[in-house]
Order: sequence, then C-alpha cells, then structure tokens
Amino acid sequence: MKTPAQPGSSLYDSDVFRMACRQFDLAADLMGLDPDVRERTKLPKRCLTVTVPVKHDDGRVRVYEGYRVQHHLSLGPTKGGIRFHPGVTIGEVAALAMWMSWKCAIAGLPYGGAKGGVSVDPGALSRRELEGLSRRYMQEIIPFVGPNIDVPAPDMGTNEQVMAWMMDTYSNQVGNSVPAVVTGKPLSVGGSEGRREATGRGVAYLVKRQLEAMGIDPRDATVAIQGFGNVGSEAALALREYGARIVAISDVSGGFHNPRGLDLDSALAHVAAHRGLAGWRGGDAVSNEALLELPCTVLVPAALERVITPANAGKLRCRVLAEAANGPTTNDADRILEERGDIEIIPDILCNSGGVVVSYFEWVQDLQSLFWARAEVLEKLCSILDRAREAVEGQRRRLGCSRRLAALTLGIGRVAEAKASRGLFP
Ligand code: NAD
Repeated sequence: MKTPAQPGSSLYDSDVFRMACRQFDLAADLMGLDPDVRERTKLPKRCLTVTVPVKHDDGRVRVYEGYRVQHHLSLGPTKGGIRFHPGVTIGEVAALAMWMSWKCAIAGLPYGGAKGGVSVDPGALSRRELEGLSRRYMQEIIPFVGPNIDVPAPDMGTNEQVMAWMMDTYSNQVGNSVPAVVTGKPLSVGGSEGRREATGRGVAYLVKRQLEAMGIDPRDATVAIQGFGNVGSEAALALREYGARIVAISDVSGGFHNPRGLDLDSALAHVAAHRGLAGWRGGDAVSNEALLELPCTVLVPAALERVITPANAGKLRCRVLAEAANGPTTNDADRILEERGDIEIIPDILCNSGGVVVSYFEWVQDLQSLFWARAEVLEKLCSILDRAREAVEGQRRRLGCSRRLAALTLGIGRVAEAKASRGLFP
C-alpha cells in the first residue's frame, strides 16, 4: 500500500531537504515501508543551532551561525562532516545528515548519520580567524558530540588542520586527549593512514569497477571533474593511476579543459601556492556549467549539490556519472537521466562512501590505540566498497530499479530494520 508523503518538518524546509525527503519517499514507496517506522526513519532525530563569535584580525567581533544535525541514533554514535561554506543552512545540513545515514548503512558501519556546518566563507578568513572559528564552533557543540555520541569529520571548507584544532579544543575541555572525537585528523594526533585520500580514491575505485563492468578499459577513459578540493583532486590522482586521462577540472573560480589531458601535478602546485586554480595556465578556460556538458567517459561532480538539473541533464555527454559530491543531481534531473538510459550513475551514497569508511577505521584505531599500515587501510577500504557495490547491484536486480533507488532502499531498509528490532521506547 502506498503511504502518502507526510508534511515532514518545517524547520528544515529547503530545496535540498525536500530533495532528500523525495528520494526517501520514492524508496519507501518502492519497499512498501511499514507506516509505523516510515516517518521515524525519515526525519532527523535532533539538531543544535549555535552562534559562533569570532574576533577578526581588524579587532572586530563577527558572529556566525552554525548547526549540527543528528539523523538517527539506532545503530551507534552518529557520524558526518562539518562544512564551512557561505551557502550552509540548517536544511542543507539536515539533508546531508540523512544521506550520511543511508551511506553508513550501505557500507555496514555502526553509525547513524550526522552533519554540521557554519555559514561562512573560509577563503575570506586568515589562518588565525579560521582557528578561532573552528575552536569556538567545537566549544559550542561539546555537549552534543563525543566518541560514543557523535563524531565529526571534514567536509567542504574544512580539513585536517581544522579537525586538529577541534580535537584539541574538546580534549582541553574534558582534561585528556580524546583523538576519537573527530576523524580526518593529521597522523600526528591520531589520524589514519589513507584518510586524506580515502573519499577520492574510493570514487576512483568504484569508477574503475563500473568501467570494467561496461567492458571499458580505464586507460581508454576520459574524465571531467567539477571541484578540485580534497575529493576532486584525490579522485583525479587515483584515476590517473588507473590510466585514465583527466581532460577537465574546475573549482569555485572556474575550470580548465584540454582534450589531450591536463598536467595534474602543475595544477596541484598552483592550488598549493595560490589557494585555488585561478590564474593557472594549464588548459582552455571553461565555466563550471560548461564543464558538466563536455564529452567524456566519466563525469565527476565533486563540489556542491544540485548542479545537474533539468536544464543540463539532457545535455550531459558522459557514459558514467560518478557522484563524488553529495546530492549533485536533482530529482527532476534524475528522472531525465533515467529516461535517457545511456548514462550509468554511481549514486553519491555509494560513490563517496570511501571517506566515511576510512573515518570509521580511524575511530576504531583511536579507540584501540593501535594503528594500521596504509596498505592494510586501503585493502580493507576496497573490500568494503566491493561488498557495498555488490549489495547495491543485487538489490537493483531484485527490485528492477535504478542504482540510486537500489542504494536508497538498501540503506533505508537497514536503518528501518534496526528501529523495528529495537522497538519504540517507552
Ligand atoms: P573541499 O573544500 O576540499 O573542495 C571543494 C571544491 O569545490 C573546491 O575546489 C572549491 O573551490 C570547489 N567549489 C566550491 N564551490 C563551487 C562552485 N560553486 N562551483 C564549482 N566548484 C566549487 O571539499 P571536499 O571535501 O572535496 O568536498 C567536495 C564534495 O564531496 C562535497 O559535496 C562533500 O560533501 C563531498 N564529500 C566529501 C567527503 C570528504 O571526505 N571530504 C566525503 C564524502 C563526500
């Protein structure tokens, strides 16, 4: 029996939250999810909003708004990144927390989903201001996080250094070092080998597996990547290792294209020196919008959500769409791509799950104070990704649906099953 979509929550109302809810509803309808568990599984459990005052270098204090949303608590602590970006809203953070829940469940991790964020442009902050923001945001959310409660990690606009400041702030508060309170830290304070490159490498590995399934040799593949931050650049490097040719890259300032292939090392050196690709001379200039429509074997959106829309879905010229970003494809665009039927989509909640898998390894290593070699981390990562991929393909065959719906039903089903097993308290 179909359950009509319920009104949901007004607090989080936004395009991106409605998109995540619509995905949930499509999957729940397909599964015939029990109405008693349906809304409980869909809506975020709890959230915290904080104001974060930061003293700027000019002596003035500016106040930023930050959030942390925990989507469900049924399988263990919650887990998810912290985003510093001017577009952050509580609705976006809630949608990202929902996706984290399905992602963790697909990978078989003992976590619920969470996400955090501050509405701020980190590129406009000095290092001292960024440290002030990172420390004060963590200070404000301390009662809401912890190794057994909620474990943050990096996302857009945050990195290893930000995680180290947050771990230090939390540890100072409780009086002893607590490395397991955040993941994605530097190796020197309990980070894991392989974490920095885990998301991008995972994306590249799943792309390789998809190309092989289609009978395409990765060495014959061309790749266009939107977003050249942690995920986009690491995916580019790993795909280059597999022999693929990277023909386009971009960041917030715009992109570059060369059908004969780009010099990634030169691009990375430029980004390190100038904090972005602006001014690089490694290819023909291309806008972020035009990059998505370039002819290529693999298109990798690795920046913001909702960039593939009904306006460009009909114009994509790739064979594989590897969703490294969270939520890059709107529901309407998804329908157009499905009708086209000529593009294989690796959905975000599978495609970028390498990051949270190695974050899980980092948390386990921190709790045990026993650290693994890089080869061991990467081998374990690939075996979890293979298992998750096979589970999604199996679900797809069973339900005769798209790969996205297969992934969603698998993740949602596992969370709903845990809720049903535990029962409703009191
Ligand atoms: P990052 O901050 O390291 O890099 C983001 C990149 O996107 C930068 O190159 C930035 O310039 C670019 N960008 C920002 N706004 C843009 C715009 N409007 N148009 C084009 N490019 C733009 O962030 P990241 O960690 O690489 O995250 C990228 C995506 O991957 C996000 O959607 C994030 O949620 C997702 N993700 C990240 C991780 C992780 O481990 N870091 C894990 C899973 C998913």
